Amino acid sequence: MRFWCRVSFIGVLLLGQACTEAPPTARNVILLSVDTLRADRLGCYGYGRPTSPQIDGIAARGVRFERAFAGSSWTLPTHMSMLTGLPPGQHRVNGRKNELSPQIPTMAEILGRAGFRTHAVTCDGFVGTGWGLERGFGVYDARLRSVSQVLDAGRSFIAGLADDERYFLFLHTYSVHSPYNPKKASRTKFVRHPEDHFKGARTRPLFNASKLTQRQIGYLSDLYDATISESDAAIGEFFAWLEERGALRDTVFILVSDHGEEFGEHGRLGHGKNLYVETLRVPLIIVAPGFEPAVVEGRTALSDLMPTSLELLGVDGPEVSGQSLLAPMRSAEELPEREMLGILELKDKGRSLLRDRYHLVVGNGDERALFDLAADPEEKSPLADPAVLQRMSESMKRLFERAEVGPSKEAVRLSPEVIERLRALGYENDS
Ligand SMILES: [Zn+2]
Repeated sequence: MRFWCRVSFIGVLLLGQACTEAPPTARNVILLSVDTLRADRLGCYGYGRPTSPQIDGIAARGVRFERAFAGSSWTLPTHMSMLTGLPPGQHRVNGRKNELSPQIPTMAEILGRAGFRTHAVTCDGFVGTGWGLERGFGVYDARLRSVSQVLDAGRSFIAGLADDERYFLFLHTYSVHSPYNPKKASRTKFVRHPEDHFKGARTRPLFNASKLTQRQIGYLSDLYDATISESDAAIGEFFAWLEERGALRDTVFILVSDHGEEFGEHGRLGHGKNLYVETLRVPLIIVAPGFEPAVVEGRTALSDLMPTSLELLGVDGPEVSGQSLLAPMRSAEELPEREMLGILELKDKGRSLLRDRYHLVVGNGDERALFDLAADPEEKSPLADPAVLQRMSESMKRLFERAEVGPSKEAVRLSPEVIERLRALGYENDS
């Protein structure tokens, strides 16, 4: 038997046990990012509406992480975390004019050097090229298209591989991102009050919540559910196709999102403006050969995806802040509680800290809101506890001082075409 052990942060901690376990059997990894998908809108995360029978089925086959959190509430920094193993405070691609430092290796670069075919099919916008996400991919195919087209392109890539080729396939879709424009059949199924339709509801990307009535926001929320249902069907077909080919015998399948979405819970719509729980909590499901279905309760971060993937593939990687999730996946053991920072550096700056049961959200202008996630998981009532507030504020200051030691920022000049594509997704050129 060939013993396997990788010396890394988690590897060192687990050296005694991990070296005697069977080696990983995965040869390939597929990372599917469904942009803007809230965890709590999926049945497997407790939602009461039938938005996600297929994803629920995939979750039942794999390891579902109950409390996965993004390190920001917009697309670019969170995808960068997935592909570098670093939180936004460290990779520093946290504004639209920042480019990833050449000193930071990406998962595609590491796997490319290890002989993997690296292939990305994304829907552009902030998952386009220019910021460094594309680094290390043999092909980085970025253009706006439907989820079915993204998954079809993924199928074509897999079908064209030679038997002995190992691969990393990164797929990304805006299928549940605003403007929410589901087909009639799913609208009929999920929109409870079609009479609340208003001009621009299905075509305008983002709205100011204060200009809409609760009924209109409810209408948008129902449209969002309908788009999830459509994406769910396409993802289910793709997963079934992988299964029929026998691909899941040696391939890791990861389903994740980059952030959630607001529907007026804290006065806004969309994402990238606040750091409340509805924008930070995301689904994370990993189906990996040799791993039994499980639910992991501990808090996980998007920066955990790279070290987890590399360890599953048996490929060495750099020491990063993200942690491999193999130990909890293997034994469903509790992950120790971790402190996590959220950073927002757009026009509306913000910071947040998840620590133990508490979430401290610091918004633009330094206003602070403290929440007890155990008692108030939807963050409806700020907690008035000066002692906890002071403790959390001090932790936040200390952690930010430690986190912001990454390489310096470098300017990216966006082309007019990129600015126009971002505008079509609802992002104003405001930074
Ligand atoms: Zn996004």
